[in-house]
Amino acid sequence: MSAETQVVVIGAGSAGLSAHKELARLGISSTVIEASHRIGGRAYSEELTPGVWFDLGCAWLTDGDANPFAAIADRLGIALGRATWEAYNNPDHHRFIRNGVRLGKEEHAACRRYYDDSYAAVADAAENGSDPSMGDVIDLESPCAPPFLESIATGWGVDVDGVSCADNTSSVGELGYPVPHGYGNLVAAWGADVPVTLNARAERIDWSGPGVVVETPKGAIKADLALVTVSTGILASGEIDFAPLLPDWKLQAVLGLPMGTENKMGLAFDRDVFGPEGRGHHTVWSDDSPSAKVDVNGMGFNSVSVFTGGRYAIWLEKQGPQACHDFAVDRVAEIFGNDIRRHVVRSITTAWSSEPWTRGSWACALPGQAHQREHLARSIDDRLFFAGEATMVGGQGTCDGAYRSGVRAAQEIAANLKPR
Ligand SMILES: Cc1cc2nc3c(=O)[nH]c(=O)nc-3n(C[C@H](O)[C@H](O)[C@H](O)COP(=O)(O)OP(=O)(O)OC[C@H]3O[C@@H](n4cnc5c(N)ncnc54)[C@H](O)[C@@H]3O)c2cc1C
Repeated sequence: MSAETQVVVIGAGSAGLSAHKELARLGISSTVIEASHRIGGRAYSEELTPGVWFDLGCAWLTDGDANPFAAIADRLGIALGRATWEAYNNPDHHRFIRNGVRLGKEEHAACRRYYDDSYAAVADAAENGSDPSMGDVIDLESPCAPPFLESIATGWGVDVDGVSCADNTSSVGELGYPVPHGYGNLVAAWGADVPVTLNARAERIDWSGPGVVVETPKGAIKADLALVTVSTGILASGEIDFAPLLPDWKLQAVLGLPMGTENKMGLAFDRDVFGPEGRGHHTVWSDDSPSAKVDVNGMGFNSVSVFTGGRYAIWLEKQGPQACHDFAVDRVAEIFGNDIRRHVVRSITTAWSSEPWTRGSWACALPGQAHQREHLARSIDDRLFFAGEATMVGGQGTCDGAYRSGVRAAQEIAANLKPR
């Protein structure tokens, strides 16, 4: 491959694909290169059992119909789980299971109050501008702290002491709709008309001359400018050799937004072991075993997704897929009893912190570093542009946020591109 184009887009996830489409709409040519063998990046579905889809990455269309992928799904004839909104998005339907027993009404209400108070304390801290960690401002002694800590570890992929109050506050949004056929499949169907060169990792981006030259194992591409959509995990790893090096302010932005890890374990059962009341969100914790978040039957199948986040998720991932499987089965048994064990037919487990093309699940701002998202989004010398979920304030860590960042970057490029 040796090519010349106006823009070379690096990465064919949601951001890279939307950028290509927006550039094409604006009459600008672009070449999209992708390191892996498929498009979609962190949007990726696999079949758990025939007809039962499991999303290894994004699964929920945050903010429902306000999400651009809702209209895309409607246009493509892909069904969304709009009817499940109430079961998953209403906080009162969130079940808390401590030591194998569901919390009663009063304890449940106390935990909900603790969540509200904690988020209010975090929002106050964000507003007063000091941007401490969430762990600095919440009551860690409360008996309701364990499920909250779990929700932050899975929500951010980082334990509370590493999460910026300002970043958390700027990201608030609704869970939205699930995609029974897979969010990854939806993104792949929408992106199928984008010409992407696969297995073409950007190894070096030379921006020392008037344009850019991007070297890949399939050859070099010359372009007026490059749009980089890879994760901060990839940028921090030094895998892409920028020549000259990225300026210090950009490196500070990358380092202020390290990748968190949320892992998911999908379990399929040979029958409905949950019962009519079982569907929905559960958080399980106990005195002698680790905690987890469990989504039961989210897509309307006899399956669950079990989530871990933060340091524990990274540790468990290193123990291998069997340990992850066992962990997930144990957590589901804590809710529904040991009998469920003999009905498990298959599992899929993720390992995002060691995933070579992202090195984590999404970027989470360190305390005091929430402002770095804006710096990460800023272009350099009108030649290197940046998009991807990490560049968003509001919508960070989401697939639709990544989509919007690609559109934003394409429009910036259009405004900056000099006539040839
Ligand atoms: C476990 C998990 C659960 C999630 N749940 C949700 C959810 O429910 N809802 C939601 O909205 N979001 C969710 N997300 C987040 C969402 O998936 C991501 O924010 C979004 O998909 C990121 O898109 P992106 O384009 O920014 O990055 P990516 O999808 O990572 O795309 C970047 C692309 O660049 C490629 N690449 C890397 N290095 C190179 C290189 N050197 N050269 C060329 N290409 C390269 C990668 O292979 C990748 O395809 C979840 C993510 C995870 C991991």
